[in-house]
Amino acid sequence: RSFAAVIRQLPSEMLVDVLIFYLVLRALDTVEDDMTYFATNEEKVKLLLSFHKTALVDPEWTMMGCGEGDERRLLEEFPKCHSVYAALPEASRRVISDITLRMATGMAEFVDKDLGQGTTDVDQYNRYCHFVAGLVGEGLSRLFSVSGLEQPSLAGELHLSDQMGLFLQKTNIIRDYLEDYVDGRAFWPQSVWKKYSPSGDLGYFANPKTEEASIAGLNCLDELVTDALELAPDCLAYLSNLRCAEVFRFCAIPQVMAIATLEKCYHNEDVFTGVVKIRKGMSCQLINDTTDIVGVHGIFNRFASCIIKKANTLRKKGFKDPSYDRTIKACQTILELTQTEASKGALASLVNSTMVVASCAAAS
Ligand code: MG
Repeated sequence: RSFAAVIRQLPSEMLVDVLIFYLVLRALDTVEDDMTYFATNEEKVKLLLSFHKTALVDPEWTMMGCGEGDERRLLEEFPKCHSVYAALPEASRRVISDITLRMATGMAEFVDKDLGQGTTDVDQYNRYCHFVAGLVGEGLSRLFSVSGLEQPSLAGELHLSDQMGLFLQKTNIIRDYLEDYVDGRAFWPQSVWKKYSPSGDLGYFANPKTEEASIAGLNCLDELVTDALELAPDCLAYLSNLRCAEVFRFCAIPQVMAIATLEKCYHNEDVFTGVVKIRKGMSCQLINDTTDIVGVHGIFNRFASCIIKKANTLRKKGFKDPSYDRTIKACQTILELTQTEASKGALASLVNSTMVVASCAAAS
């Protein structure tokens, strides 16, 4: 849903390719997420692994009754999606089919894993995020390259495109703690959260009975936010490789939303009781400011400073956060990388407002 607006503003030569890429993966994810449709895990694995040869090859392929709402409808009316897919250039079809197979293979690897208590460790957490989000970054980069809107070399920036996906996925996983825990399919890595949960249950943070329990939850949350913030330098490096303004906005808008969400989640106990969301007004402001690298660096700079301020205020109040040094270091790195462009942006907005004041004065 959140991708609809950014897809719509892409140049016409690649809008449909990206739209179909999104819908195909949305369909695959609906299969992955349905916990009741399949009688056995083997059946689900079989369907996932054959998806690129069935849904993407057979123009009549459909699946009835899997998922809910619009997602169910997408699978039920999949031939409509297939007919548009079939008309795409061969190079785009090859990218979509390749990523679909590799994502499905990754999803299949996790079908048998009990995620009631999250992933086992940070490696497994990263691996899951690579399959469901990092590969999207790779696929999009390849689509940008084959369209000619971006340089061929972008398709080869596998590490940077992977980290772009991980930054978004980890932000969602952090924010969706409660929802995922209740669903019995959680992703917070045990090697992190077990350090903070004496009960050995991930739900320990959801209704803290004592002061200690709520502090433990916040310590855990701050560590995971820091882990995500450490991806920001690679995301900024990826964005600096883009040439096309619309592709830049397409890639950058979700990234600025993610850092805004991380800043809001940092040390926020609401993560454990409900859904933390950035306000609509702030989203609009961020979208408007995400026009070029100057705007994006300004935004990353601002949120990194906010997190440093929060961390220091908490420290002054006597709060002991085991991740403090790591958090400050991650934010300092972001500040260093963005300082130059951010100050250009600040200067430009100062000049702008000075001009407004000057023209108002001239008019009066
Ligand atoms: Mg899923």
